[in-house]
Amino acid sequence: MTEFPGATGLVQNEPLLWEQGRKGRCGFSLPRRDVERSTVPEGLAGDGPDFPDLSEVDVVRHYTRLSQWNFSVDTGMYPLGSCTMKYNPKTNERQAAAPGFANAHPLLPAALCQGGLELMAALECLLAEITGMDAVTLQPGAGAHGELTGMLIFHAYYQHRGKPRSKIIVPDTAHGTNPASAALCGYAAVPVASSARGVLAPETVAAVMDEDTAGIMVTNPNTLGLFEENIKAVADIVHARGGLVYGDGANMNAVMGLVNMAEIGIDVLHLNLHKTFSTPHGGGGPGAGPVCVRRHLEPFLPVPRVRMAGGTYELSEDHPLSIGKLQAFWGNMGNLIRAYSYILSLGAENLKRASELAVLNANYIKERLKGTFHLPHDRPCMHECVFSDKLQQAHKVTTLDVAKRLMDYGFHPPTIYFPLVVHGAIMIEPTETESKQTLDLFIETMQAIAAEARETPDSLRQAPTRCKRRRLDETAAARKPCLRG
Ligand SMILES: *Cc1c(COP(=O)(O)O)cnc(C)c1O
Repeated sequence: MTEFPGATGLVQNEPLLWEQGRKGRCGFSLPRRDVERSTVPEGLAGDGPDFPDLSEVDVVRHYTRLSQWNFSVDTGMYPLGSCTMKYNPKTNERQAAAPGFANAHPLLPAALCQGGLELMAALECLLAEITGMDAVTLQPGAGAHGELTGMLIFHAYYQHRGKPRSKIIVPDTAHGTNPASAALCGYAAVPVASSARGVLAPETVAAVMDEDTAGIMVTNPNTLGLFEENIKAVADIVHARGGLVYGDGANMNAVMGLVNMAEIGIDVLHLNLHKTFSTPHGGGGPGAGPVCVRRHLEPFLPVPRVRMAGGTYELSEDHPLSIGKLQAFWGNMGNLIRAYSYILSLGAENLKRASELAVLNANYIKERLKGTFHLPHDRPCMHECVFSDKLQQAHKVTTLDVAKRLMDYGFHPPTIYFPLVVHGAIMIEPTETESKQTLDLFIETMQAIAAEARETPDSLRQAPTRCKRRRLDETAAARKPCLRG
């Protein structure tokens, strides 16, 4: 059967615009020319760019169809572990689009953008309040950018004390960006293994912590979805040797308003507004990864800093110990406005409730699926739970087969093969915004896939069958990427 646009029901094929173009077709019509034709100056004449000839409706349909290929939080459940794909309330979009914010030129003098500066100052206070930290910068444009900021602060702190250090401890349950950020700042990452309970044991940290180690980077809750229950003891060990504790707070969605990060010994913490505070992830950007610090590290925060002077807000560069500027203009202002709107629309009690529900939803999935899929750490989890394909191995079915079949059922697959500490990991993060009905449907789907793995494993290995594309050759895609489309 020949396939052409519109031929396969609701999943429409879409040729390139160049393949659709027909010579002479046009998307506009202009009035007849009433001036003399002039010749193109020498050297400028040529064939011009190779644009396809298309009518307006051809172009509109092309892009609208392409947009319908997207999977998003607005189209279905997106249980992508370690990513917190929660629903982004539309009211936040409305606030960010308010003309006063959206049309403000980033080079306006402070006197003409008091509202924007006030919002930034207020958001800094709210984030400090939610985390229990003392001071905040909103500049970093992503979580990993926040980690880089934190590592630069560590570096500046030791430089200022005249005793630079060269190593950072990074547990095997940390997010992959942690050792990368440490290395980017010239630190050697010292890996430490988590215990059989999936968390850090104080004695393993004590064994490697020394006076040449700048500190530790702890992802908490960690990438197994477990709360680092020994964090205070670990922090005490690091502090006793003059070190600092970095908290990767990208998973703050589990503990908003429930854990005081300063009290558990964190000195520097980044947040992911595009996860916890419900701003869109935006396909790799723009995001926002504010960094919160304890009082003794405030002088090192990036400039400019928003401050109140003589009744007006201003952007101050007057911070001699600052690590400098990390981002153009004010950072990703649109996301800051969305996060501010999210926090105010929920309020303190509901932020806590959101975290409690995120944890409840993850535990519900964990409990209902734990006989069906192997659960390496069978104890209460935080915002996400991690299974493996151990029970499916007997049928030669892997995590990848399960993930591909989920797409046939209309679910975005969870994070797979991460964290690396679990072989064949399936990491599910439902978030608080999914209803019990949706969770049940997801659970029943996973059960159906497990049954298929037992009964007809050969068919499962053919998944996906109902998607636009069948199984891709991922090795070839990685080794011989076709970047020209
Ligand atoms: C997502 C995530 C990061 C990285 O954040 P980006 O905004 O993608 O750079 C870091 N740590 C943890 C635990 C994360 O989940």
